[in-house]
Amino acid sequence: MLTVVQMVSCPLCGEYVPVDEDTPPGAIFEHDGKRLRLEKEFGAFVLAPVE
Ligand SMILES: [Zn+2]
Repeated sequence: MLTVVQMVSCPLCGEYVPVDEDTPPGAIFEHDGKRLRLEKEFGAFVLAPVE
C-alpha cells in the first residue's frame, strides 16, 4: 500500500515536516524540541504550535 506524504511547513522555522496523509488531525509532532499539532484547513494540513 502506497503511503502519500505531504510536506507541511513549520510555523516556527519554515522547515518542511513530512506528514503521512493518513495522520488524523490533532496528532502531535515533536520538531526542534517544540510540540506542533496537526490541523486540517480547507483540505490541507497545517501545523500549529502547542503552548
Ligand atoms: Zn521548525
